[in-house]
Amino acid sequence: MSRKESLGSQADLLQFDREHIWHPYTSMYEPLPTYEVVSAQGVRLKLAGGRELIDGMSSWWAAIHGYNHPELNKAISAQLENMSHVMFGGLTHKPAVELAKMLVDLSPQGLDKVFFSDSGSVSVEVALKMALQYCHALGKPEKHRFLSIRNGYHGDTFHAMSVSDPDTGMHSIFQYVLPKQIFAPAPKCLFHEEWNGEDLITLRNLLEDHQHELAAVIVEPVVQGAGGMRFYHPQYLKELRSLCDQYDVLLIFDEIATGFGRSGTLFGADHAEVTPDIMCLGKALTGGYMTLAATLTSDRVAMTISEGQPPNFMHGPTFMGNPLACSVALASIRLLLESNWQNKVRRIEAQLLEELKPATKLKNVADVRVLGAIGVIEMTQPVDMKKLQAFFVQEGVWVRPFGRLLYIMPPYIISSQDLQCVTTTLVQAAELCN
Ligand SMILES: *Cc1c(COP(=O)(O)O)cnc(C)c1O
Repeated sequence: MSRKESLGSQADLLQFDREHIWHPYTSMYEPLPTYEVVSAQGVRLKLAGGRELIDGMSSWWAAIHGYNHPELNKAISAQLENMSHVMFGGLTHKPAVELAKMLVDLSPQGLDKVFFSDSGSVSVEVALKMALQYCHALGKPEKHRFLSIRNGYHGDTFHAMSVSDPDTGMHSIFQYVLPKQIFAPAPKCLFHEEWNGEDLITLRNLLEDHQHELAAVIVEPVVQGAGGMRFYHPQYLKELRSLCDQYDVLLIFDEIATGFGRSGTLFGADHAEVTPDIMCLGKALTGGYMTLAATLTSDRVAMTISEGQPPNFMHGPTFMGNPLACSVALASIRLLLESNWQNKVRRIEAQLLEELKPATKLKNVADVRVLGAIGVIEMTQPVDMKKLQAFFVQEGVWVRPFGRLLYIMPPYIISSQDLQCVTTTLVQAAELCN
């Protein structure tokens, strides 16, 4: 299409989209179809042409209260009247201060310092830099590597990619520039199983062998998200905490997906009652309204960095602490805390368990698992994305599978009836893969 042609029709718009715009993890050669959304309300996405889809994805874990929520709209409009943004260097404002106080109050005890950034990946970069600068300040620059577990996902920027699963994170393509990290196997002991300590053997050996070069261990607590949608035993985190203490290695929890109630507790860390040294938040932080992330750390880490040379923590995004994002985050967290979210998540969990169960009997289904408001059907083979995407839209639900996984994490406000539509369609999709 030439520059002069208009985007008048929906077909033109989609054609331009296909020819010129990269979507997440897609090819420009034969992109999968995209659907134009014109508005969203509650748990429904409205497509151009009028079709409505019940949302099973919460826009990737984020829209926990659904779309177009009056309270969140009010918070962001009110802030817009005051100012949409000011630089955070040398200036501060109430939305950032109130949000930081809220995060310090709610997060596991001992996380008292807050660094705001723009996206989850950046908050992970910030966490890794904090760990590096901490070791540097202690005069141990040789402690500059990270240990992570397989099947993890921590973002798409370089250092975040280096601690993500080597296969799904495509380390082979970027091997010449990616720092080489150390990987423990993904925990085998799963959330609902009886704890056994077998996973700790390799973990302990790796920490023992590499303690002098390790700055930190980074994991997604309890729920491994984009790296495989696995739920592992909380005791693993308790043991990991004491191993990190024993070998003098910092512990980072990436709570970007698990934060704000998704797995049944406010944070994944709460399943184990463990405090990490550094914690990353993002995704549902703003209720899905805006991009915002935060990295929290302890007094000890922050003060050690600040006693080092240079004393300044070396990071500072242009849009740090954006007031619109902070205001809507504050409103979203208040809404969550007032909303009896535990009951909502428990109700969703019970319904997912009941309604996804039939899929266990299907050929080509490897596993069906549920934790909190997360439901997963794992197939034995990669699914046909193109076919399934069209099927879901035709059935009036929005689900985006990846790899061998059909999974959902709906907004907490979803009604039982709407959720049933989503689960029924998900099981039908699994049948289609047979
Ligand atoms: C999504 C995600 C990230 C990356 O966040 P972005 O906002 O996409 O950069 C990092 N870690 C985890 C666990 C995530 O789920």
